[in-house]
Amino acid sequence: MTPEQKLRSLPSIDALLRRDEVQRLIAKQGRDSVRDRLREVLDEMRAEFRHEPQSSNINGLANAEALTQEAERRLANRFVKRQQALTQRVINATGVVLHTNLGRAPLSQAAIEAITKAASGYCNLEYDLTTGARGKRGSGLESMLRDLLGCDAAAVVNNCAAAVYLTLNTLAEGGEVLVSRGELVEIGGSFRLPDVIAKSGARIREVGTTNRTRLSDFAEAINENTKIILRSHPSNYRIIGFTERPSLAELAQLARERNIPFFEDLGSGALLDLAAIGIPDEPTVQHSLQANVPLLAFSGDKLLGGPQAGIILGQKEFIDRIKRNPMMRAFRVDKLIFSALEATIATYANSKALTELPAIAALQATKEEVARRARNVLRRVRNDKLKLQLLDGNSVVGGGSAPGAVLPTKLISLTSDHLSATEMEAQLRQNTPPIIARIEENKLLVDLRTVSKNEEKELAAALARL
Ligand SMILES: *Cc1c(COP(=O)(O)O)cnc(C)c1O
Repeated sequence: MTPEQKLRSLPSIDALLRRDEVQRLIAKQGRDSVRDRLREVLDEMRAEFRHEPQSSNINGLANAEALTQEAERRLANRFVKRQQALTQRVINATGVVLHTNLGRAPLSQAAIEAITKAASGYCNLEYDLTTGARGKRGSGLESMLRDLLGCDAAAVVNNCAAAVYLTLNTLAEGGEVLVSRGELVEIGGSFRLPDVIAKSGARIREVGTTNRTRLSDFAEAINENTKIILRSHPSNYRIIGFTERPSLAELAQLARERNIPFFEDLGSGALLDLAAIGIPDEPTVQHSLQANVPLLAFSGDKLLGGPQAGIILGQKEFIDRIKRNPMMRAFRVDKLIFSALEATIATYANSKALTELPAIAALQATKEEVARRARNVLRRVRNDKLKLQLLDGNSVVGGGSAPGAVLPTKLISLTSDHLSATEMEAQLRQNTPPIIARIEENKLLVDLRTVSKNEEKELAAALARL
């Protein structure tokens, strides 16, 4: 067939709409959207016949039936692609516990139930049940945080980036932010501290050097324009070797003596000391409060193990000013986040965080526990074409936290007679639910650390189908 003949043989929209395959799509997706997508597919094919007649996509289409089937295939593909772009559950077999691309911390059962209840009708988001008058959004969470951590006051915004921006904008706009040269960093993706400071309307005054900053450097840099001292936790990097920086308590004392606000961007905001499970150097929120840091912020969905949020804690005078910032309205969180965050904090308050927060439980799992679960999965996989092995390896904390942490794990390694590692990885990604695994040295690797118990069956079934 010449390109012109192909153009003339393309099926009409009406003919395509009568096909069984297309009828099935109409039943699911609605007639209008199928017709619109068909129009796009036929336009696309016409353009290819005209402009790239030698392209391998269309070269082999030798008769009207082949053209029709190609149109059907492209139509179905469009709906698959659209479905894949929608937010959906995936099985995280990467071993990266706080995987930012996969939604960071999975929520606890209690948090899921709290969200479901808050979403299923009205709730007292800004309504005081004691007085029957208008209440304060987040007041319940604030008193939970006060009781648990002994802080003075708290505010909650959408994420830690918003917390940093809002704090600096409130307290330092038009003035200078003192920050160590070693802390002006990028935390991954789109969070670059210097850019956020600039947007807050404050100017950066760099203190010390990249590897060594002393308390005296801060003391000497303070002038009449100094509005705040900022300390940022080196979340995803380490400066090692010849290094120095003042302790939190020293900086807090200096700030107090000079009557300047001091703000710590803690990043992860662990509430539990995780050194015992192989995550050293991850400071806790309690540690900062004990060092008399008057104002600090951290994420809700990193080591805290809750929903995406930014939590600001500290002295009431600072928190009140932050809450009065008109931009607070743009960064406030909704009823679903408050309910999930309250349930997450309640889990710490009743000392059940280690077992009931999925991210914390996953971080704690020993290599032996992961190995036992991996063997359980392997027992379920009947597939002669696969070679399955258990290998030693490491899992990763993720979420820009604890780059130095080592979490020894047991990996399922897969190789196949008929599929490459890349093909297996892609096939698992197309599974329902999608399974995300990683490839190393031409082996497909599955880490059970981040797979929940009730996902094991789905995982085994998908491996059996490879
Ligand atoms: C992760 C991180 C942020 C950004 O937190 P989000 O909640 O993702 O906005 C800011 N500062 C530090 C130190 C971090 O580690």
